[in-house]
Amino acid sequence: SVCAPLPVLGRDVRVPLVTGGEVDYAALDYAASAPALQRVWDDVAAYAPYYGSVHRGAGYLSQLSTDLFENSRRTIADFLGCRPDGDAGDQVVFTRSTTDSLNLLAAALPQDTEVFVFETEHHASLLPWERRADTVVTYLDAPRTPRQAVDILAAALAGREPAAGTDQGTGRPAGPALVCVTGASNVTGELWPVRELAAVAHAHGARIVLDAAQLAPHHPIDIRDLDVDWVAFSGHKLYAPFGAGVLAGRADWLQGAEPYLAGGGASRTVARRTDGGVDVDWHTTAARHEAGSPNVIGAYSIAAACQALTEAGFDELVAREQRLIARVRAGLATVPEVRVLSLFGDDAPRVGVLSFVVEGWNSSHFAAALSAEYGIGVRDGLFCAHPLVRTLLGSESDEPGECGAPEAVPGEKSLNAIRVSFGAGTPDEHIERFVRAVR
Ligand code: PMP
Repeated sequence: SVCAPLPVLGRDVRVPLVTGGEVDYAALDYAASAPALQRVWDDVAAYAPYYGSVHRGAGYLSQLSTDLFENSRRTIADFLGCRPDGDAGDQVVFTRSTTDSLNLLAAALPQDTEVFVFETEHHASLLPWERRADTVVTYLDAPRTPRQAVDILAAALAGREPAAGTDQGTGRPAGPALVCVTGASNVTGELWPVRELAAVAHAHGARIVLDAAQLAPHHPIDIRDLDVDWVAFSGHKLYAPFGAGVLAGRADWLQGAEPYLAGGGASRTVARRTDGGVDVDWHTTAARHEAGSPNVIGAYSIAAACQALTEAGFDELVAREQRLIARVRAGLATVPEVRVLSLFGDDAPRVGVLSFVVEGWNSSHFAAALSAEYGIGVRDGLFCAHPLVRTLLGSESDEPGECGAPEAVPGEKSLNAIRVSFGAGTPDEHIERFVRAVR
């Protein structure tokens, strides 16, 4: 029902309080890693004792594992509404995480690709593109409305022609281009206008990859409806731990690239040449980028999470989460010292991720107090999105890292922030306790 949180692991963890006694742990750091759904755990536990090598064995357990691995791929393709496999279709590649997925795509870009990325991105979607010497990266300024985001991208792409490869005498290179954008911010929780950005990208002959690390756990994703070329996300934020992630999308660039890792599984045949070298025929399926023994439990757990969320009813989960968001925002609004960080303003649609500062408080101390005095786990720092958080704080300082910020001085700007995040497993009581604790 709309009112009931989904059962997750860790609900039985009790933590001591410095003030005496103990409470059940309130995990309000879903944006970093969400607890596993009980259902995912049960599915994995039913299979885990029996796994065998994927794609490598004639035995029964190898066959079973290969089936589970490939069926997991299909489940995830269905979950994302992928286009049918083929040159212009989509492939689901298993990776270790969102970071890994985006690095894979960065390594697979055609020669001399131009990349456009907002400075507000998480470091996982901000940084991989610089690592190729031939890739030209344009960093776009932080927009202050979703509309402005679309306008900034359109201005940056202006002059590019729709058909890649044509140069209409504008002097601008019209080669391959990629736009990378987050679906939901890991700092503000705000949704980005993905469909509109995709339309602008495509109108200018660019492709677009969606960093869905924070969107996927909170929102159904339809790759065709959004009309994005790739989607990247992580299992451990989608209620499925076990170290796996996904890069799903257009096969052509992926299959036109060198394998991400060289090794067994990615190669179809390997043979010595007469000149003494080695000839390799690489796979042209997702396996091309999955060298080494696959993480079958990780892949299976992501598929189990996709199924569990679909069966629970994403609409109901979203409705419940929106109610919790409204409660947190209303609660924080009653505390005059609290400033919620936002790019797009109060009316922006958002997921259950919210960062704030408390005037006169060091955010790290504040987060430590929430833990020690209330048993609440939140995160403090710059959330691997340093340019964005500094913009939101109005701070030029490059002092603080993830934590360990210098003392905040009353009346001066905060140097880092506190983030609360929640989702399908969060009981109302955790939200109420959080609001009470901040007050
Ligand atoms: N993108 C966003 C928006 C994120 O929030 C995160 C994780 N904080 C990542 C990418 C990277 O995910 P992972 O650490 O699982 O690779």
